Amino acid sequence: MTITEHPTTAPADTAVADSAAALDAARAALRARLLADGVLIDLGSPGLYGRTGVFERVYTAVDAAAVRSQHDLDAEVLRFPPVEPLAAFERTDYIASFPDLAASISGFTGDDRTHRALLAARERGERWESFLQPADLMLTPAVCHPVYGLVGDTVPQEGRSFDIVGDSFRREPSLDPMRLQAFHMHEFVHIGTPASAEAHRDGRIPMMRALLESFGLAIDVVPANDPFFGRVGQMLARNQVEQSLKFEFVTPVYGPDHEPTAISSANLHEDHFGTSFGIRTADGAVAHSACLAFGLERITIALFAAHGTDPDTWPTEVRTALAL
Ligand SMILES: [Zn+2]
Repeated sequence: MTITEHPTTAPADTAVADSAAALDAARAALRARLLADGVLIDLGSPGLYGRTGVFERVYTAVDAAAVRSQHDLDAEVLRFPPVEPLAAFERTDYIASFPDLAASISGFTGDDRTHRALLAARERGERWESFLQPADLMLTPAVCHPVYGLVGDTVPQEGRSFDIVGDSFRREPSLDPMRLQAFHMHEFVHIGTPASAEAHRDGRIPMMRALLESFGLAIDVVPANDPFFGRVGQMLARNQVEQSLKFEFVTPVYGPDHEPTAISSANLHEDHFGTSFGIRTADGAVAHSACLAFGLERITIALFAAHGTDPDTWPTEVRTALAL
């Protein structure tokens, strides 16, 4: 063993590469364990899984606990399909900030001749999706999106609160089991005055944190740094952090040496949706909005990572908090 093979100070980029490799290994190990222990089922595409009974048992308990924790909001319950009309998607401006995560629905509108051409391409083993046409539908990337177009042009001065849970889709294939392409968020949305929107976000951060900690998870609340796209996106991301618009509840799923993963968030949109959707409060001012979002699959998988894949062996206080 020579000194040159083992320098006392490793170059910084080697340390970063080692750490990235260790993180990838930790992600692969958790994924392998969830699949081997029958929690998730590999559907053959990164970030898409089937779920088994044990997953559903914990997932359902997490969702119910989240709902109980926001009971005092007396929020109006709304449910939406996993797709939204293109026109509604347009008004959210999502495509400007996250084009790489967006996904659209296509359908076949051709005639017999086009169908024959499609089948011939398929027979040759070629891709045939180019024979489909955009269907003016987008996969919903954030479950609260549809609500802003539905509240009309005025909300009462005290605001309105909504309980929304549904499917989200974001095109970011990954082998990290904490990063799914198709997932669910349970959101508690408030549309009201600047003060009521801010109070909705800030006032509920302590109780969200306490709830997640009661699940036996180590939680930190940190300013979020969303992956806005491109050069303009870097500016948007900086604004988001500087103005402390969004906070994330993060937990060290892969141990203290690696960056923790966000499992929930508390997001102040200010007048973004109020302006885009033309919503005002009773006094005529542009409405502000805020969202509390529980990442249901992420919380569930963080629980399996922290306590093992058999919920019957979890600490009593964790099972009590989840009413498991
Ligand atoms: Zn939202």
